[in-house]
Amino acid sequence: MSAGGDHLVRTFRREETGYRWDQVGVHAYNAPGTVSNRITKQILFHHDDTLCSELRYFETQPGGWSALERHDHVHAVLVLRGSGRVLVGSEVTAIREHDLVYIPPQTWHQFYADPEEALGFLCLVNGERDRPSRPDAEELSALESDPVIREVIRY
Ligand code: MN
Repeated sequence: MSAGGDHLVRTFRREETGYRWDQVGVHAYNAPGTVSNRITKQILFHHDDTLCSELRYFETQPGGWSALERHDHVHAVLVLRGSGRVLVGSEVTAIREHDLVYIPPQTWHQFYADPEEALGFLCLVNGERDRPSRPDAEELSALESDPVIREVIRY
């Protein structure tokens, strides 16, 4: 979306398949080396020279989840639809529409849609950012030593 262009407004619509915006592409989301499930990604605002952030919308179908990962960059998340749970560090919290979630640097995180409901959330990130890393065997067993975490994580 560029200033002076003729597409400064992109109309929102609710479709059977999920939330959509005019002229915004929908991508199946599986970042390299990550495992996620039934989740799509839409880039609502790309970063450029005048905006150093990117705003994305992720939508997870009922029962789906995002990748279990961590990285240096932070996420500022606003839940836009539905309900589910989120793992942030060692905490698992129920989330629903309009809740805010902050993911600090190098903090394990994963989003889970409830079984009966899609979970959609806006995620603000730096335009320039490091690649996510996934837990290795040692990190996984450390995570799984916490029964609360063991119960929710998917990978
Ligand atoms: Mn992430």
